[in-house]
Amino acid sequence: VVVNGLRRLVRAAPTAREPVVNTGAEPRWLSRGAWRLLADAGPTGRGRGLVSFESTRGDELAVTVDDSGNVHAPFDFDAVFEAYVSERWVARSDNKRLSPALLDFFYRVKRVVPRGAQLSARRLLIRRQGLPDFPRWPIDGSVESLVRLYLYCLIVANGTIEHPFDWFWPGGALAAVTLSHDVETAEGLAMVVKLADLEEELGFRSSFNLGAWYEPDPGVVRELESRGFEIGCHALRHDRSLFESRSSFEAAQAELQRFAARIGAVGFRSPATHRVYEWLGELPFSYDGTIPHSDPYEPQPGGCCSLWPFFIGDLVELPYTLPQDHTLFTLLRERSSSRWIDAAARIEQAHGLIHCVSHPDPGYLGDPDKAAHYRQFLIALRERPLWHALPRDVAAWWRRRDAGEGVEQATATGGDTLEELELRPPMSAVQAGFPA
Ligand SMILES: [Zn+2]
Repeated sequence: VVVNGLRRLVRAAPTAREPVVNTGAEPRWLSRGAWRLLADAGPTGRGRGLVSFESTRGDELAVTVDDSGNVHAPFDFDAVFEAYVSERWVARSDNKRLSPALLDFFYRVKRVVPRGAQLSARRLLIRRQGLPDFPRWPIDGSVESLVRLYLYCLIVANGTIEHPFDWFWPGGALAAVTLSHDVETAEGLAMVVKLADLEEELGFRSSFNLGAWYEPDPGVVRELESRGFEIGCHALRHDRSLFESRSSFEAAQAELQRFAARIGAVGFRSPATHRVYEWLGELPFSYDGTIPHSDPYEPQPGGCCSLWPFFIGDLVELPYTLPQDHTLFTLLRERSSSRWIDAAARIEQAHGLIHCVSHPDPGYLGDPDKAAHYRQFLIALRERPLWHALPRDVAAWWRRRDAGEGVEQATATGGDTLEELELRPPMSAVQAGFPA
């Protein structure tokens, strides 16, 4: 796995003065307000404290600036970023989760326990466990904070008031939105056109991920494609068999490739978001949308904490950044789309990717009340200065941006403190009348 790192995400203009990094041997948690980070933290460097963190060992660590203007950080920015996006932090957290043995048990009993009883059991579990402190749900600001800290360090280290970096989105858009669906059943497949109609009426297109455990109706596939929708892949079987073992993962590749070619898919989402980070990069796809931004409600809870795509090897990961429809409307029994709308507004403020995962099936958006919530959500989004893109187009853009093609420069403008730092979008955004 290629370490992709924070620097690759930010793509700040090259500078003579990068922060000097002091690392240690043992990973530990640091915090600053609500922000948590896992770092192989070294000692605090010389000079005046700029930004301080509390360590779980009870001491304080700080980013400092010395008399010659060098900035010292007690951790490596790329390594901290990697600990988030690889979900390596999970092994170092005491968040409650199911063991692999319990997960297997869950899938065995799932077939015989009625759906209503399953839901009641999961609701009870949620009430008993509560939400973890980290990652914050539905939106966690950790990677955003790390981006801002890095840019702040560059400004201080270079003794300037601003520093250029590559803007996240094309055409001066302040943020991006992409919609994707997993089609769970043949019944759901029969309902995709209705959902596509709703989206098209409101000016949206989306991607439908199909599974190989039902017949992917070629008529539906053709119609969706001709109307500008995308077809993605939702694996061969709806269980954790793909990621169960290395041998099962390898054995599935050829068939996965054949199925993807048959339906014209370049993107993938794993069933029930089962995943092994290191293997995702080997999938025969251009992008994957399996890793949550923050999702404590899935059988494999976790989160990469990023509001932006990132690379796993040569694959572009498009983390899903909103709660799933099933979580909001079935598990938590919410009766409006306000949670989606608020979270999307928060992502827009951070200039991230709003990535909504939902399902056309009965029990999901196939139900009229849930489809009405989705409609309300799309109406709210329609008013915003967002780049609307299919997942495959977001992935293609992320590759172009990484290669430096078609990128516009933005500026981080410093204040006296980290909290005063501002991210100014490129001129094209200002010309389009988007407020920063
Ligand atoms: Zn699914």
